[in-house]
Order: sequence, then C-alpha cells, then structure tokens
Amino acid sequence: MTAPVRSTCPYCGVGCGVLLSPEAGGGITVAGDPDHPANRGRLCSKGAALGETVGLAGRLLQPQIGGQATDWDTAMELVAGKFRAAIAEHGPDSVAFYVSGQMLTEDYYVANKLMKGFIGSANIDTNSRLCMASTVAGHRRAFGTDTVPGTYADLDAADLIVLVGSNLAWCHPVLHQRVLAAKARRSTKIVVVDPRRTATCDGADLHLPLAIGSDVALFSHLLVALYEGGALDAAYLRHVDGFAQTLEAAMGGTLDPTGLDPAQVAQFCRMWLAHEKVVTIFSQGVNQSASGSDKVNAILNCHLASGRIGRPGMGPFSVTGQPNAMGGREVGGLANMLACHMSLEDPAHRAAVQTFWDAPAMPEAPGLKAVEMFEAVADGRIKALWVMHSNPAVTLPEADAVRAAIRASSFAVVSDITAETDTARLADVLLPASAWSEKSGTVTNSDRTISRQRAVRRAPGAARPDWWQMAELGRRLGWRMAFDYAHPVEIFREHAALSGIAGGFGLDFDISGLAGISTQDYDDFAPQRWPIAARQGGRFFADGRSFHADGKMRMIPVRHRPPAARLAPRFPFRLNTGRIRDQWHTMTRTALSPRLSAHLAEPFVELHPADAAALGIAPDTLVEVTSPTGRAILRALLTDRVQSGEVFAPMHWTGETAPSARIDALVAAVTDPISGQPESKASVCALRPFGA
Ligand code: SF4
Repeated sequence: MTAPVRSTCPYCGVGCGVLLSPEAGGGITVAGDPDHPANRGRLCSKGAALGETVGLAGRLLQPQIGGQATDWDTAMELVAGKFRAAIAEHGPDSVAFYVSGQMLTEDYYVANKLMKGFIGSANIDTNSRLCMASTVAGHRRAFGTDTVPGTYADLDAADLIVLVGSNLAWCHPVLHQRVLAAKARRSTKIVVVDPRRTATCDGADLHLPLAIGSDVALFSHLLVALYEGGALDAAYLRHVDGFAQTLEAAMGGTLDPTGLDPAQVAQFCRMWLAHEKVVTIFSQGVNQSASGSDKVNAILNCHLASGRIGRPGMGPFSVTGQPNAMGGREVGGLANMLACHMSLEDPAHRAAVQTFWDAPAMPEAPGLKAVEMFEAVADGRIKALWVMHSNPAVTLPEADAVRAAIRASSFAVVSDITAETDTARLADVLLPASAWSEKSGTVTNSDRTISRQRAVRRAPGAARPDWWQMAELGRRLGWRMAFDYAHPVEIFREHAALSGIAGGFGLDFDISGLAGISTQDYDDFAPQRWPIAARQGGRFFADGRSFHADGKMRMIPVRHRPPAARLAPRFPFRLNTGRIRDQWHTMTRTALSPRLSAHLAEPFVELHPADAAALGIAPDTLVEVTSPTGRAILRALLTDRVQSGEVFAPMHWTGETAPSARIDALVAAVTDPISGQPESKASVCALRPFGA
C-alpha cells in the first residue's frame, strides 16, 4: 500500500492539511493531516466530504467554442486572436482577467505577470475583492503593507477572543474548534459581535447583536473606553501616528447607531480592559461593507492604541474566506496591487518589477476592481474578458446585470472544471481546467502558512492547469521566453526570487530564501509560515515598526457611516447575505456530496417571527423577496436568531438548482470607496408570501 499524499483542503482560508489516498476505482479517500499546523488532523464537514466530490459527473473535458467541442490549439488561437485584436485596436485596458481565490499561487502569479507586465494593463481582479479587499486596504493604511499580524497560535494563548462579523463555527469550523479548545483549556473568554445570533454565539460568553453596519461606532466607543480606562500603551504609541486625531473622531461619535444595550457594551469594554491578551478575529461582516476599510481600521486602532499587537496571544486577525486569498494578495493579483506587496503607485517598485520580468510595459494606475470591471463589460469598454474559476453571474452584486453584461459582451472566455455554471453557459470559449487533486502548486492560508496542493491523479480529458492556460496565452501573444514554464516549481522559484526585491525595499513579503528550491524540495515542501528569514518568530509589529516609509504605524480617524442603501417604505428590511456550514460558494463541488446537501437542502430566508406574523408569512412557506435590483423565491425560516427588521439569505444557490434563488441579484452594487469591496450584507428588500 502506498503512503497517502499530503495536500491541502480547497475550501476555506483555514487551509487544513489533508492526506489523500487514491482508490482503485478512481476515487480518493481523504483524511485530516495530523502533521499540518493548521488543523492537526481535524477536518470539518466539507473537508471530510471531499472524497465524495471528485467524480467526473459534470466535468468539462474538452475546450468548447460556441458550445462545440474543439482542441486546445484551435481554442487558444481564437482566444489569443481576440485579445491581440482588442489590444491593438482599443489598447491594453480593453481586456480583463477576472480570477479567483481558488487558484493556486503559481496560477495567480502567471496571470498577474501577463496582465500587468506584458499586456500592460492592471485589469486583473479577483473574487477575493468580494472577500478581503477591505482588510487589504485597512492593513495598508495602518501598516504600510498588507500584513496579517497574527497566527493561529495566538488563539491558543489569548485570554479574550473577539469575533467580529465572523460566523467562525460555520465558515472556519476547524479554527472555531481551536478557539473552543482554548476556552476549555484556559477559560479564554469569547465575545461575538454580529447582528445575527449565529452558531458561533453558542460557545460565547457575550453576544453583541449590533445593527448591521455599525461596527465603527462600537470600536470607536471601545477606543474611548480604553483611553478613559487607562489601557493605552504610551510606549507603543510613540511608534504610532494619528492617535490624537483618531481619538478626537472617536469621541465625536455615539453608540446610538449600534442599537446595543449600553450595559452589554460596558461589559465588553471591561473585558477588553481586564485582559491584555486580546485577539480580534474579523471576517466578512467587517469586509463586505461600504465602510469596510474604516471598520477594519476601527479595529486596528484599538489594538495599536493599547499595544495589543504582535506579541503572543494578541492582535487583530483577519480570517480569509478562500483557500488562497492570501496567495493571490502575495502575487499582487488585485487590480490595485503590484506583486509581492509592492505598490503599483510607487515608480521605484514598478521599475524594479518591470526589470525583473524584462517586461515591455507596466501600468501606472490601478485597474478596474471587480464591480467596475463588469460595468466596463456592460458598457463595452472591455472587449475581451477571461474569467477563471469563478462564477460572477451568481456572486457579484446585481448579478442579473452582470449576467446580462457577460451575455452581451464582445468576447468572454471561461475556464473552469465544469460547463455547468451560470457564467460558463455565457462563454464564447470554454476551457477545461484541472481540478483539486489533479493540479500542483502552493496556497497560503490565513496565518501566512504556505502549503502544497498536490496532484494524486491525472486530469481527465483535455483539462489543463490554470498556469499553463495563462502561459499559453502569453506565448501566443508573442512573449514565448517570459512564459516558457514547464512545471509549477519554475513559477514558484521566480515568485520567490521576485519577493527578494520586495525585501530589498524593506517590505514584509520576502520568501527569497526559497528562490533556489530544488524540484525535489518543492515536491517535499512542508508547510512553512512566512516571513521565512526576514524576521524571527514569524511575527510582525511587536516592535512598533511598520512598513510605511517613516517606519511608523498609523491610526486612522474613522466615523460611523450608515449602509449606503437606505431603508424605505417600499424596501423596509435590511438584507444580510452569507455562507452556510456545508456548502461552498456556488456549490459546483459541495453539491456533489449528498450528506453536505442534507444539512440545509434548499435556499431559504431567515426572518424574525414577529416580522413574519406581520406579513402573514407562515413557517416553511415560500416567500418572494424583492429589492430594487432583483427578486428571489426562498423558503421562510422563522427564527429569533435574526433581529426584527433584518433578514438573512445564503449566497450559494444558483439559477440552476433553484431558478429564483440567486440572492446576489438583490444585492446593490455599492462599494467601499477605498477598497472597492461590495456591500454584500446591507442591501434593502421587501418580503411577501409567494403568490399573494
Ligand atoms: Fe477545509 Fe476550511 Fe473545513 Fe479546514 S475548516 S476542512 S480548510 S473547509
């Protein structure tokens, strides 16, 4: 019997290690890897069911043009011809890549290099824009780089863990188990800040059900309480700019927008004051907001002012939704980033990257962020679009408009493992991609640990890795040498070498110690957290030194802003969207597992029983939910876990599994002005019994 192969779960940003044992009939047995530092053998329901999702049902096996099977050469000649013609006639900004946090770092690297260095546009953005862009913006404002200060080990050492806008129990279950284990072992206190009473609240000491979108008001109040309670760290504040202005802004606010019981808030503040070792975990409830960047900085402000950052058991800690959102950020796979945490706006950084790549062109300004990109598809500015491993016709806000834009676009390429997504059905050219367990490369999880994904079987049919597909476009556009990769290790080495330039600029992301990695060592690569060599202990910011040019940290004055969409008599409910425990994104993989689908079998809307009674909505009946941009038919789930006046609906269901359950069709396409992240949790809607 051969030994199982070590790989990584393809779902959430916890990045659990898995052991893969191929079976004779083509299946794969999946177990948790006891040696992986992220999970020590544990898996959640989704990871444990991975073996049920690797069949060939629904797989895309051949390239297709206009729905007809073809070969790679024909398909890529058409793709290259369309991109070449658009660039020649309309300039480099007339083309765009929309990529994914599902992609491996090597895939992401090649896509970013091709678009930014060779095509000469920054029009590459990713579905991570919907996930973590506000955190990236907040980090860069405070620290000068997109640096996650904490590690998972901090959860083991914390005395107080505050979860903000994070249903960790469902969305990062193995990490939640780690939090609960810390509580059992050392009585760690847990506070959940969330409009909903989620499953995560079940293990909490305190739940603060704040009004949707009011996080800045709460954390500004906390900053004032830290000041008045004598919990500021004067020594650390010598390294911080902006304290006085930030405190003044905080003092100008009130708790009123939160709608919280002042006694509960006072208890929260006392807990902060009583414990030095505080970790604040935050996720999509913070990020997916028109004031997401300010929310992030409101949290960071409290940690900076109290010096609770960078030391064991303390610090702000963003947990990413996707398996490789972090790797995508590292390669610069967002429209407003360069590579290796270098800055697109910095001429020295641009010049250094251009020289390293021997690239013909570099954009000087950010490209189109996700929502803007599909607006440009709609109005015809984008002439050729390539969507990789994402389903924007379902997941972007105002999804009906996005679907119409792709359908009417001049030329759309979609590469995916299946032709059965709403977006794939709109493609002019469909390209078959290698799936998890068939492709090799690296991913970075939420605590900066780089791990390998490994292939344990051949890709079926003509499916090819994403890095190969992007490199093939680069070669056909005339840049043969720059994209002459034969193996992902060559890309990894190049990425690591490029990071040495970032290190030379004094930036955080420097894995250049791995630039000479042998193929054997890449094959054997064990999980490793960066920084690899630049700083000891895998920690940042304990010394108060930031990556801003002056080395100082920044507190950012922030003030509460209500959600952009205003409640009105026609749309009196606040619509919150999110994940459920056993599904992933638009269910292309998890829906293949019967046991995962058994958890919550159909799309639903959670609403408060008092609201249901007022509207004449009975339990388990169908409800029509409408917003200014769309309509959905969902099953009524009556629960006091949501507050009156607010409703929650999951993001997963598509046009196929339930024709009117694409909830993002109802979400307004308003975005954070700094991060460009859509406000996916604060749209407005109306409800009525279906058919009434
Ligand atoms: Fe996979 Fe996340 Fe579950 Fe771990 S917690 S098994 S990474 S889905």
